[in-house]
Amino acid sequence: MSELLAIGEFSARCGLSVKVLRTYAAEGLLVPAAVDAWSGYRYYARHQLPTARLILQLRRAGIALREIREFLRDPDEGRLQAWERGLDREVTDRRRALAAARQQLGMLVTGPANPTRHDGGTTMTTLLAGSANDPGTVRDTNQDAVLTSSPLFAVADGLGPSPAGETASRLALDTLRARFTGPPTAAGLAEAARAASRAIWDKASSDPSLEGMASTLTAVAVLDDGEQAQLAVASVGDSRAYLFSAGQLHQLTHDHTVVQALTDAGELTRDDARTHPSRSLLTRALGIAPVVDPDIHLPAVRGTARLLLCTDGLTAHAEDPQIAEVLARVAEPDQAAARLIELANHNGGSDNTAVIVVDVNPDQNAP
Ligand code: MG
Repeated sequence: MSELLAIGEFSARCGLSVKVLRTYAAEGLLVPAAVDAWSGYRYYARHQLPTARLILQLRRAGIALREIREFLRDPDEGRLQAWERGLDREVTDRRRALAAARQQLGMLVTGPANPTRHDGGTTMTTLLAGSANDPGTVRDTNQDAVLTSSPLFAVADGLGPSPAGETASRLALDTLRARFTGPPTAAGLAEAARAASRAIWDKASSDPSLEGMASTLTAVAVLDDGEQAQLAVASVGDSRAYLFSAGQLHQLTHDHTVVQALTDAGELTRDDARTHPSRSLLTRALGIAPVVDPDIHLPAVRGTARLLLCTDGLTAHAEDPQIAEVLARVAEPDQAAARLIELANHNGGSDNTAVIVVDVNPDQNAP
């Protein structure tokens, strides 16, 4: 037998406390090499030091005593790798749960009863959001998606036959939310939108059933900037963002469509564009190339304003004055979103329609 060490010295050398050594001895994990029959004093052999240090490290890795006992009987690199994979899975699951919790937090922002204050600077911007998403009166599937994860809000309209279209819009918003981390900035929003496009491109490239899928994206992040709320708007495709302020509806985004390009060139009037046979042709969409850059707009909001994000299901079926009338009349954001869906469906509802209404500082000028 190699040299015997008293329990105190063994403890000092291996890093396990005397108390823990006693517990492990009782568990049959690390049994003393000798016990003094008269004093009951325990001794460990020097050659037990590597085993004791191994147990210490495995405990630090969170491995259960029962598993360590089995491992010591049959030390195997494969088992270490399995523990490592389990750890990765656990971290992934916990990250997912935190992302879901963030989503739930965003969903709390759905009415005046639950105002959420977004504290990002010297002042605080209050945001109240409501959303609605509807397949319309004709289509069986809904390829539109919404994200309300304050201070980030987004709509996406998937392109491609089912299930490709709905996969693309959902993937766009899931990726956007996952990548828009840290302090909210316009650059961060642009980068998250590019990542969303890349995610669609990669998935479509690896799965033949999703080939050619793509999505629009209109996303707004509300950034605090001293005295006023600064908005960062990212857009690709023909979903839109509007600002409704002082009774006026202002379009914040520019459609990436063939008819918009023709209108910009003076070849079509706005009215012609609404009925043009090529009105659904997009000139830019997430996932149609490995790298797709969003347009970025940076409007500022002074005081109270109402934001509208919508897919083309709304704008194809409702004129600006009709949309403005609903936004002026219906106070609650979720009710306003529902009324806008009703408006689109009442006027035909031939497409899916997704709507988000966000009130920025809604109580500032309240009567
Ligand atoms: Mg659509």
